[in-house]
This record gives sequence, C-alpha cells and structure tokens, in this order.
Amino acid sequence: MDFLIDAEMGRRLAAAREWGQAEVRPVGREADRLGRPIPTNHPYFEKVLARGDARTRWRPGSRSAGSAPPRSGRSRSTVMALLLAEELAYWDRGVGVANPGPGLPEGNVIGAGTEEQKERFLGPFLEPDRPRWACFAMTEPGAGSDAAAIRTRARRDGDGWVLDGAKCFIGNASRADWLLVQATVDPNRGRAGQRAFFVEQGTPGLGGFKIEKKSGLKAYESTSFSLTECRVPAENLLGGERPRSDRPEGFKTAMRTFNAGRPVIAANSVGIGRAVLDEALAFARGHGLLGRDRVRDRLEHMKRRLRAARLMCLKAGWLAQQDNIVEASLSKAMAAQVGQEAATFGMELIGTVGARGDHLIEKLYRDVKAMDIVEGTGQIQRMIVARKLVGLPRG
Ligand SMILES: Cc1cc2nc3c(=O)[nH]c(=O)nc-3n(C[C@H](O)[C@H](O)[C@H](O)COP(=O)(O)OP(=O)(O)OC[C@H]3O[C@@H](n4cnc5c(N)ncnc54)[C@H](O)[C@@H]3O)c2cc1C
Repeated sequence: MDFLIDAEMGRRLAAAREWGQAEVRPVGREADRLGRPIPTNHPYFEKVLARGDARTRWRPGSRSAGSAPPRSGRSRSTVMALLLAEELAYWDRGVGVANPGPGLPEGNVIGAGTEEQKERFLGPFLEPDRPRWACFAMTEPGAGSDAAAIRTRARRDGDGWVLDGAKCFIGNASRADWLLVQATVDPNRGRAGQRAFFVEQGTPGLGGFKIEKKSGLKAYESTSFSLTECRVPAENLLGGERPRSDRPEGFKTAMRTFNAGRPVIAANSVGIGRAVLDEALAFARGHGLLGRDRVRDRLEHMKRRLRAARLMCLKAGWLAQQDNIVEASLSKAMAAQVGQEAATFGMELIGTVGARGDHLIEKLYRDVKAMDIVEGTGQIQRMIVARKLVGLPRG
C-alpha cells in the first residue's frame, strides 16, 4: 500500500483547502442558519461549475480504448479521491453532497450501463452547460437497511416499463435531471428480482417531491417522492435488456455502489472529526483550558482515533479494485463512530456555548450523526463484518 502524498497530490489538497475555506464553509453555514438546502440558482453552484467540479469522470469510449492505468495507479487515484472527500467534509460535508454532478449513481452507470446509456445520461455531465444533478433512489418508507425489501414495482408494458411506488430521503432528488430508481420486477424473486431504471425529471407520474426535515447536513436536499403509473421507455432499464446470463444483477450492482461509497463516508466522517478537533483545540486555547490534563488527554484521544480511522479508510480505498467488502464496512463502522465521539467531546468542552446552537461544533455534532446512517448503518456494517468473521454468507 502506498499512501504517500506526492507533490501533485499535495497541490490538489492545498487547492481543496483554499476552496473549502473561502467558499464551502461559508455557504454551508449559511444553509444551516437558514435551515434549508442551497437553492439551485445560488451563485456558489456557478463557481463549482467554473472550477470543473460538476463533471463526470466517465469518458466516451473509455472501455474500448484499453487504456486503463495499472491497478496500483487506480488504487492511488482512489486514495487521492478519499483524501479530497475528507478535506471537503472538513469544510462542510452537506455542501459536498449538494455539489452538482452525477453523484452517487455515477459509478453504477459506468459499471453497469450500456454505452448508449452512458452517452445519454452521463454525456451532459462531460461539459455541463448549467449545474446538473442526478440521484440514486433505493430507500423506501418500509425498506431502509433491508434493501431487499423494496416494494417499488416495475412492470413491463408494451415497449416500456411502468413504475409504481414511493421513495424517501433521496439526496438531490427534486433537482436531479434523472433519478436512478431501484425497483422490483418480480417481488417473488427477492433481491434477484431487482433492477434499476432511469427516470427523467418531468416524466408523467413522477412527483410529490417533499424535502424532508433534517437535524444536520442542511445544505443538500433529502427528498421523498412517488411514482404513479410512471412510464419509461425500455432503453431506460440500467444495463439494457440483455439475456440474464449476460447482464449485471440489479441488486448486486446497487450493493457495489454502496461498497464503493462506504470508504467515502468513512473519509467524510474523518474530515468532520478533524474539523471538530481543530475547533475544540482553538476553543481550549482561547479559554485557557490547555493546562488541564483531562482536556489534553481527550484531544490526544481524538487525534489518535481519527488517525487510525483514516488509515482504515485508505486501506479500504486501496483495495477498492479487489474484494474490499470487509474493509469498506470496517472503515465506515469505525470512522462514523470516531467522528461522533469527537463531536460529543467537542460539545462537552464548549458546554453552554454549544447549547446556544450557534457554534460550529454544535453544527458538526448534528452533521456527523448521518454518517452512521447513510449507505448502511453502523449496525449493518458490524453485522457484515461479523458474518464474514464466522463464515456465514452475507445475508
Ligand atoms: C441524511 C440522509 C441521506 C440519505 N440519502 C439517501 C439517498 O440518497 N438514497 C437512498 O436510497 N437512501 C438515502 N438515505 C437512506 C438511508 O440509506 C437509510 O436511512 C438507511 O439505510 C437506514 O434505513 P432506515 O432509516 O429505514 O432505518 P432502519 O433500517 O429502519 O433501521 C433502524 C435501526 O435498526 C437497525 N437495524 C435494522 N436492521 C437490523 C438488523 N438486521 N440487525 C440489527 N440492527 C438492525 C439499524 O441499524 C438502525 O439502527 C439517506 C438517509 C439519511 C439520514
């Protein structure tokens, strides 16, 4: 494993730090103060666009070009992406998710989409002419951790598919150009009956968008919506209508999205924890608390745990090209907990200042909780690791 930060990586991290301080933190605090997601016409998004951050990493013809870098090169670029994810979350994790771009479903589309689908759905993100979003909709009011239990139904009808169901807590759903919706084509087949469908914004039957109330991460919208007799063309089935033996299985494809995403959430948690540590240190210094052993001990404890969590996260990223299921779960379970511990200590330290609700540590305390929930709760990560440990199938 090679986690060395070379000159180029150092330059990119320094640029991310500068951007985070100047733009990301202020817009995140503004959204938190106002208690609503950053509006789509906010000038911040134009700046993101101008920086080139709203683009897809997909390149037309990339699979056929045969120019994939060697595995160690890909692992290093994953490590770089994780370090950047940590840095962005340091400044504001909610703003990171609010940023325009193909977001969570991008990897799924690159891995399982047909060439025509990549062209059609990722193509507009190559050089976006305006802030554009996409989203991945799995969770339902009755199916969160047990993703195999989703009830949104897709039935074949003539030359298309008709979707019926409801989704909730979906990031960026109402502003997305298209939503990648996980649905079951055959409820009797459980996970094996699941497939994903592109539903374009404005499709009749897609509606009822309602932005959920959240305690933290207010900069981005988490939205519920419904699908009622919502018809999409056959070409919108992710991966197309290939024979079963030749196509990626819908549930496994969705789970791969989460396996890739878990180290990113771990990195985000470390970033939030680091922000708490820096704020706690500044508070302790400003209030003459650094002479107290108990305060220093707690600061050291945070530092040590955050460093360990970062290493686990980077290892999961390094192994991303291989089977990293256990490392991905270990890193997320650990880092989300460490981030929460750090925030709890930060709140203790600032005492009544935190209770007033306008200190950054209080915001970070609310923000970090979701890291233990999204893309599989801490409980579920620990279950995955425990099942593997004792030799049980994943469940
Ligand atoms: C801020 C935020 C953003 C989100 N963004 C998205 C998104 O963009 N797209 C999307 O599809 N979803 C999204 N989600 C949904 C998220 O993935 C779910 O909240 C998560 O999977 C947990 O599901 P649940 O909330 O229904 O909890 P439940 O599954 O009902 O779990 C409740 C509790 O029971 C525990 N539990 C459940 N099953 C077991 C078990 N078998 N053994 C032991 N304990 C168990 C859980 O760990 C948890 O503590 C988001 C959620 C949040 C909070």
